[in-house]
Amino acid sequence: MERYDIAVIGTGPGGLEAAITGRARNKTVAVFGTPGGSAKVEKAHRVDNYLGIPAVTGSELASRFMDHAKESGAEFISEKVTLVYPMGEYFSMQTSAGEMYEAVTVILAAGMNAGKTYPGEEKFLGRGVSYCATCDAALYKGKTAAIVSFTPEEEGEADFMAEYADRVLYFPQYKEEVHVNDGIEVIRDVPVSVEGDIVAQTLVCEDDIYDVDGVFFLRPFVAPANLLPGLEADERHVKVNRSMETNIPGCFACGDITGTPYQFIKAAGEGNVAALSAVSYIDNKRREKSSNS
Ligand SMILES: Cc1cc2nc3c(=O)[nH]c(=O)nc-3n(C[C@H](O)[C@H](O)[C@H](O)COP(=O)(O)OP(=O)(O)OC[C@H]3O[C@@H](n4cnc5c(N)ncnc54)[C@H](O)[C@@H]3O)c2cc1C
Repeated sequence: MERYDIAVIGTGPGGLEAAITGRARNKTVAVFGTPGGSAKVEKAHRVDNYLGIPAVTGSELASRFMDHAKESGAEFISEKVTLVYPMGEYFSMQTSAGEMYEAVTVILAAGMNAGKTYPGEEKFLGRGVSYCATCDAALYKGKTAAIVSFTPEEEGEADFMAEYADRVLYFPQYKEEVHVNDGIEVIRDVPVSVEGDIVAQTLVCEDDIYDVDGVFFLRPFVAPANLLPGLEADERHVKVNRSMETNIPGCFACGDITGTPYQFIKAAGEGNVAALSAVSYIDNKRREKSSNS
């Protein structure tokens, strides 16, 4: 398996600037996220505060950012990262496609998670709560799985789960019409908490309580602390210093995920700093290794 120098999680201005800077310093870079870039950039009606590019629409800015990053030679992987494992010398990334990737350093540029986690979600993470149906579906053979989904893009995950589980309860948290395979029970109820003893046993919702063996929360975002175990973060923001270093050596963060102000230029500036710090980290590690050998 190829081990990248830098894995960037997120295709917003923070992540894309980090990718460009990493490539400018001749590092191999993998960028994970939505192929069209950040929906937040795309949605901006008119942007007037980006240096040198005044009076531009969000969608034009989004395609300029993305074209520039693609020209840099970074590799784009259109998968959501569900978990990052620090392995000592490198990081291992699990994605929603059930794939694993490796990189020496990681830059978290996943934006700001506006959604809150539910009571019980963190407590039962790995014990009946998961963020990746493709990764864990096989564990639910003959069992009941609840899927709480925040976008229609996750409907395929429910179909895949139904190939294994006896019962799939699908809780769409969006207004659009649902298109999942026959046999999947679509329930328009709003989750309140996950309850259980040692493992998750019930999904408590506003209208009813559902007995389940597992609950999958499929959001476009994963809360930072749940993305990387041991990361110093609250529900929304990762703690960094001025070099964009987190408390985990080799892991950096940039953009909205590090806190306010939520602005394109701040995200891009931090992406630049995070990538330069990642480059120094990699070069120092390589120097140490060659002087020890
Ligand atoms: C409607 C609107 C208008 C705005 N207008 C302006 C403006 O005029 N000027 C201005 O300066 N700012 C504006 N902003 C704020 C600006 O959009 C943000 O500050 C900026 O996009 C933050 O960039 P970022 O790279 O940190 O994160 P984001 O742009 O949020 O990008 C994060 C990316 O990471 C992806 N991602 C998240 N989790 C994962 C994961 N686990 N695996 C893979 N990918 C993941 C997301 O899908 C997303 O594509 C606006 C915001 C909104 C919503």
